[in-house]
Amino acid sequence: MKGYAMLGIGKVGWIEKERPKCGPLDAIVRPIALSPCTSDIHTVWEGALGERHNMILGHEAVGQIVEIGTLVRDFKIGDRVIIPAITPDWGSIEAQNGYSMHSGGMLSGWKFSNFKDGVFAEFFHINEADANLAHLPDTVDPASAVMLSDMVPTGFHGAELADVQYGDSVCVIGIGPVGLMSVAASTLRGAGKIYAVGSRPNCIDAAKEYGATDIVNYRDGDVLDQIMERTHNKGVDKVIVAGGDNDTFIDAVKMLKPGGIIGNVNYLGQGDYVRIPRLEWGCGMGHKTIAGGLMPGGRHRMEKLVSLLENYRLDTSILLTHKFNGLEHLEDALMLMKDKPKDLIKPVVMI
Ligand code: NDP
Ligand code: ZN
Repeated sequence: MKGYAMLGIGKVGWIEKERPKCGPLDAIVRPIALSPCTSDIHTVWEGALGERHNMILGHEAVGQIVEIGTLVRDFKIGDRVIIPAITPDWGSIEAQNGYSMHSGGMLSGWKFSNFKDGVFAEFFHINEADANLAHLPDTVDPASAVMLSDMVPTGFHGAELADVQYGDSVCVIGIGPVGLMSVAASTLRGAGKIYAVGSRPNCIDAAKEYGATDIVNYRDGDVLDQIMERTHNKGVDKVIVAGGDNDTFIDAVKMLKPGGIIGNVNYLGQGDYVRIPRLEWGCGMGHKTIAGGLMPGGRHRMEKLVSLLENYRLDTSILLTHKFNGLEHLEDALMLMKDKPKDLIKPVVMI
């Protein structure tokens, strides 16, 4: 089969590989809708995970089952399914401890385009199909549903990590597709003020649609100054980090009220350390919590998330600024993610 792969750090291309084999608990799926992720960019061009050779990229997919393991109960050949980016081993000790995304070791629940071939191929493999797949409802458009693989669960996890509560003032730093879903999640959880930090015009418009009350353009001036001015020097209850770099934590800690929480879902691709400002962290005693996490996977969570689309609580179609038809356009879509033109939020490739 054909797959679009990381050939080595900084190198990508099409390769031929053997079609994956289906174990008794597994499924083999062909793609219907695919989307590249900013994480693919960190992985290939920053070498953030280290060297990988001829590893098929991609972890965001909606597809159709073409082969199914003998022990799978709830899925059959022909079913259309949503595939979460994170596909843990549910029997692992880490999953039993509530951290399935770290099953088998830190970040190891993230298998596609990390430890095994990803979804940018004619066929791909799903481990533990009953636990890791969700049915695609007939009423949900596959292109909108592919945003459920990663963008929605990751953005929503930012709001979970920050424990956004009704009435909270929240600053979402970074409003690419992930941060936009953090804005949407904060709205759904009842936040009061939502400050959205970004600069691309489409992202700013989308942030307003998802419930941002204030826009902070980081290119117009210092983010911290702008937030402190608008909050009369009080800062915010919660910060969600979905963009920026290692130094973003300096601003995030400074703008947080004592007792506040930072929920980070940004993938820090470079550098060895994150600096925390000592004084504004209350000399270590400020009750300012920093939480960072990989999105949780699993069928149960995915079924809940898809119910938001089915019941018109969340419209992910707003994210889809660029549409392609045909597997051969994966490269175009990935390069858009790499170059981030001004009108981009997220590309999708229909097969
Ligand atoms: P984008 O690149 O589309 O968005 C990044 C956002 O950050 C943009 O709004 C950008 O602004 C803004 N930004 C860039 N620099 C700064 C800065 N210095 N200060 C403030 N804001 C800044 O990324 P995605 O939304 O696709 O992904 C966000 C992150 O989430 C990535 O690192 C990705 O790898 C990670 N991720 C993590 C996952 C997890 O499970 N934890 C899963 C999936 C993704 P502008 O409008 O100017 O572009
Ligand atoms: Zn991703």
